[in-house]
Amino acid sequence: MLAVVPPPVTVRVPSKVNLHLAVGDVRPDGYHELNTVFQALSLTDEVTVAVTDEPGVEVVGEGQDEVPTGPSNLAWQAVQALAEHVGKDHTEPKIRVVIRKGIPVAGGMAGGSADAAAALVGLAALWRLDIGRDELLTVAAKVGSDVPFVLQGGTALGTGRGENLIPVLTRHTFHWVIAFDRRGLSTPKVFEELDRLRAEGDPPRIGAVEPVLEALASGDPRQLALLLGNDLQSAAISLRPGLRRTLRAGVNAGALAGTVSGSGPTCAFLCADGESALRVAAELAGAGVCRTVRVAHGPVPGARVIGGDESP
Ligand code: ATP
Repeated sequence: MLAVVPPPVTVRVPSKVNLHLAVGDVRPDGYHELNTVFQALSLTDEVTVAVTDEPGVEVVGEGQDEVPTGPSNLAWQAVQALAEHVGKDHTEPKIRVVIRKGIPVAGGMAGGSADAAAALVGLAALWRLDIGRDELLTVAAKVGSDVPFVLQGGTALGTGRGENLIPVLTRHTFHWVIAFDRRGLSTPKVFEELDRLRAEGDPPRIGAVEPVLEALASGDPRQLALLLGNDLQSAAISLRPGLRRTLRAGVNAGALAGTVSGSGPTCAFLCADGESALRVAAELAGAGVCRTVRVAHGPVPGARVIGGDESP
């Protein structure tokens, strides 16, 4: 008897921007203690998971040549982690993961983590697993510290390495302009640079998180703009001094405020509304300070199935 091959599953997954990223000191395990507010943005990747005769990972789109397709691909690691968790063999039947990237690679927007979250949701649907979101979040945290957030989406307060999440309710939509840099930055190198700067002279640290949560509750982008803060920004600028010019150009173009997203080098500009974001994006694109400009809004939902399709 022939086995029935399930149809491929496609999942859309958001990127993230950190509205607040406070970096504590290095812990004994080598990681830094973080206190962060994430927001999921409409700049997305799409990941298709399928049963196939040609197992492995294929990457197309934004930065495709910089993404590994072997075992180090985070989406593939997620496939392995979920198979192990439920005691299934992902090599029989064989699994293929096709990633369509819109999120900049090594950009500080959790692109790899997003693909891992999408692979978890896609594989769970493909295998029709009886697995709840909480259990999936536990597997996600094992794959990487940003994976639970992009799985969950919305806006959330993250602690630990960013994997312990408390949802932040906000009924408002915020409008962003995203500036991609010409090359990525390595997250571990940016943390090392922050340690070096702190050893040299203790650069100022960002303020408390509570006012950020109040601004989110008010929904006023002007209030939130005054409070955007990222302890990694000085380190990212130290490694990539041109970011200072990019941040200035976004504000000159009419954004309320700009911030380096996570470990950078992508810069995110908060705008007053959707129309203003379009105007800022057009002007920034002509300023010659970045490779690509996109508009996005947030918060948006986390990784979710957008439908089966016929071809892997
Ligand atoms: P974060 O914001 O979580 O620190 P990032 O957005 O700065 O991460 P990623 O786009 O996740 O960075 O890429 C970091 C590195 O991970 C890349 O240089 C790439 O080699 C590797 N990588 C592994 N899997 C993926 C993937 N599916 N997509 C992108 N990069 C991946």
